[in-house]
Amino acid sequence: MSYHRIIAKFGTRLLTSGTEHLDLEVMSSLVAQIAQLHHQGKEIIIVSSGAIAAGREKLAGISERKNTQFKQVLASVGQSYLMSAYEQLFNRYDIPIAQALLTKADMSDRAGYLNARNTLLALMELGVICIVNENDVVALDEIEELKFGDNDNLSAMVANLVDADLLILLTDIGGLYTDDPNYNPQAQLIRRVDKIDSKIEHLASKTANRLGTGGMVTKIEAARLATSSGVSVIIADGYEPDILLRIDKGEDIGTFFPAQVNKMESKKRWLLSGLASKGKVVVDKGAEIAIKEQNKSLLPAGILEVNGDFQRGDTLDILDEQGRQIGCGVSNYSSADISVIKGAHSAKILTLLGHNYGDEVIHRNNMVVV
Ligand code: GLU
Repeated sequence: MSYHRIIAKFGTRLLTSGTEHLDLEVMSSLVAQIAQLHHQGKEIIIVSSGAIAAGREKLAGISERKNTQFKQVLASVGQSYLMSAYEQLFNRYDIPIAQALLTKADMSDRAGYLNARNTLLALMELGVICIVNENDVVALDEIEELKFGDNDNLSAMVANLVDADLLILLTDIGGLYTDDPNYNPQAQLIRRVDKIDSKIEHLASKTANRLGTGGMVTKIEAARLATSSGVSVIIADGYEPDILLRIDKGEDIGTFFPAQVNKMESKKRWLLSGLASKGKVVVDKGAEIAIKEQNKSLLPAGILEVNGDFQRGDTLDILDEQGRQIGCGVSNYSSADISVIKGAHSAKILTLLGHNYGDEVIHRNNMVVV
């Protein structure tokens, strides 16, 4: 099985080697592997922890306060330090990078979800490697529903957001074991988990508190989330030489969790999740052929009619001239906007509306053809 779109998550303990500072040697080896995969044409997003640790390193002279706000200060200081380390390392390979700081609150908003998805997909298309972290300055508060809280869950969300093929959770342990290998020499690595049940959850809780923020429990949560949205997951030891390259070659390493559904199914579910369709667009014959036979996006030029009252980020049905449904997708424009731009060339969008969310009313990436 070869994976094309990969999310690689690096935890704090891995990036610091369990010390009080970023381990640039470890980072350099991870970046070298990512660069190699990138040059092979793979699409990769990194989810990187380490901001708080990097902030602690930078503010080493200041005595640490044990409150949330101070943690947010550390994250704020550390995030730019973390990014400058990545920037220097990726410069060696001439690979441009980007930063995306996400919060759960943004992601549960449909327009926020769509914006983040479109941006990450566009970055990949342009060959830019995006480095994602939680926006701790905003999100690190007591309100559980508003934060991911750990980058394992965040990385699963990102994998789902961009329809990744594989999520690799790199940590400082070889995968999921039958017991904590640090205390029990008999503990055995579990190579493959087909179903995450209470037995697996129990095993994960045995190695819970030794690792970074999340430990094994949040890794299993992340694996459940990702595999149920069509993404396979591998938990592996980031210190193993060439770990990412070996995983890419299909070497049997770490613990593997196969995807539980196929991606098409999952995409349909995503489209039809949250809210039912909020409106309809009727398209002309040219647009119908472009969508059904040529794998194209829906442009304003092909739209004859718009029905319903909807916002950017809502799901629409796409109908042919006879009123038959040919697909559905997430709209980049509101119904009010579409009624102005329908029939027009995409180059006119800005003049007609005063804003432009892209040439497509429904991008191919956000569409399912029925
Ligand atoms: N966002 C945190 C940081 O960058 C890490 C959270 C985690 O490790 O799960 O320091």
